[in-house]
Amino acid sequence: MSTENQSYDVIIIGSGYGGMLPAYQLTRAGFSVLLIERGKAWQRNMFRHSWGTDYLKELFDVCLSTSMKDIYRGSKVFGGGSVMNDKVHHRTPSEAFDFVDPDTKKAAWPSNVRREHLNPFYEQLEKLLSIHHISWDDVSRIGGNFARMFADAGMTCDRNNFNVGTGCVHCGFCEAGCQFPGGKLNLVSEVFHRTLEEDLEVILETSVKSVEPRLEGGYRVNCISSDKSYDSPTTSTYTAPKVILAAGPLGTVPLLYRSHHGLPKLSNALGKWVSNNGDTNFILKTPDHYDDSIGYKSATSTGVMTYAFWDEHHITMHPGMAPIPVFAGVDARREGGLAWGLEHKHFVQKNAVNRLIPVNAMGVVPAEVKMEIDHAGNPKIHHPRTHALLEHSKTLYRLMKGVCEKVGGELLITGIDGELFDLGGNHILGGARMSENKSTGVVNPNGEVFDYPGLYVSDASAIPGSLGINPALTIGANALRIGKEVVKSAGGRI
Ligand SMILES: Cc1cc2nc3c(=O)[nH]c(=O)nc-3n(C[C@H](O)[C@H](O)[C@H](O)COP(=O)(O)OP(=O)(O)OC[C@H]3O[C@@H](n4cnc5c(N)ncnc54)[C@H](O)[C@@H]3O)c2cc1C
Repeated sequence: MSTENQSYDVIIIGSGYGGMLPAYQLTRAGFSVLLIERGKAWQRNMFRHSWGTDYLKELFDVCLSTSMKDIYRGSKVFGGGSVMNDKVHHRTPSEAFDFVDPDTKKAAWPSNVRREHLNPFYEQLEKLLSIHHISWDDVSRIGGNFARMFADAGMTCDRNNFNVGTGCVHCGFCEAGCQFPGGKLNLVSEVFHRTLEEDLEVILETSVKSVEPRLEGGYRVNCISSDKSYDSPTTSTYTAPKVILAAGPLGTVPLLYRSHHGLPKLSNALGKWVSNNGDTNFILKTPDHYDDSIGYKSATSTGVMTYAFWDEHHITMHPGMAPIPVFAGVDARREGGLAWGLEHKHFVQKNAVNRLIPVNAMGVVPAEVKMEIDHAGNPKIHHPRTHALLEHSKTLYRLMKGVCEKVGGELLITGIDGELFDLGGNHILGGARMSENKSTGVVNPNGEVFDYPGLYVSDASAIPGSLGINPALTIGANALRIGKEVVKSAGGRI
């Protein structure tokens, strides 16, 4: 049996960048806000130094693409990706906002959402999370060797902007959850505990099953306990004149599909123009004359980023993750060699910890991934190997072979079925994207769903295409921009 609960001015679904930041603005502007989050609140001492799948599946949603080749991950804890991610917070270079979709031949981004419009919001979020350019002392040794390879090849590579505090003990387990107070500074420690705890109402371990309009205006939010599947009956409902969907692409897009019955005028663009941000994973072996990396002890697991290929190719890359879990999850191998057998085993044994650098490259590629839901209401992702994607992989291969040849390193490939590289799924964007036009987007440039006033999308699903750089700072800045519009439309002021 379902219970109808109290009504609020605004209900927000999801507590990551897209949810916590509008919650911050609306609560401070005096609105009564309810935030509903599927995950639980992890205290720092609950996190473990483990890459074990049993542990990680408590923290992440994992969704395999229909080809079974690509793994998409979304965080499922209070604070969302800000608690679980690798802390890289970089502004998106202006050129990414000029991208023209090859299928429509139109600009992917609304004309009033460009880098210059996001700059004030980037700055606000950088202050909230104390994001700063780290020192070389805080760069991991793996990061140092990666930067050296670029320097020796005559290219630039600089330090990352991170949200780390003085409590960091340089363990490198950032993506398994930071155990140390003052270590990774996330939306829970810096925004919720500092400013919202008293005024924001939060319901945890509760999943939103669907949203529907009410005859008397506003929306009804139907919920279930997070340990139930989405085809279970609703157990509680909440109502508000305004509802913000911020469950991340793996949460918001399926939620809109599940709500389609009550929201029949949703745009056909739902589930389309999804992008993996051009993420591609591969491994570099350092030149023989370099010092060993000696593990990855650092303020981070990485610490550096290169924009050396940005101007010509709109590609960035950074070393990421510890080598051993990468070997556990990816079919990495030497060119012409096997990903198994005695020779491979000896090569990995000799080099994995000290001489191999896992790299995550990103690029501004067309958003050609598609999402729908399965019979139980969970995400189903189709990631076709399009011409643009294959060209992107080939370009990366050529660029990195060039660097390795110049400095005496080696490029290891990671793709299966004849593909060059493994494609990453940690930076999924789009699926309910903003657009000036209902035929090419689900929400308008203010984040409001076309034909459903008062219903908003403020998370990564609203981002119109690839950014070519780690997306969290841009998702957060855009969420602050949308939050400001919601406050304005409700007659309040920041
Ligand atoms: C391992 C990993 C490392 C990453 N590292 C970086 C990095 O270093 N830099 C970077 O820029 N990006 C990084 N990212 C990506 C970045 O964290 C995400 O792009 C970002 O968090 C997306 O923000 P969001 O608000 O859209 O969604 P999220 O931050 O994922 O928040 C969505 C929230 O909604 C909740 N939710 C989902 N469904 C429901 C539902 N039905 N009901 C209620 N709640 C729901 C989820 O539990 C989650 O807490 C990383 C991602 C991963 C997986």
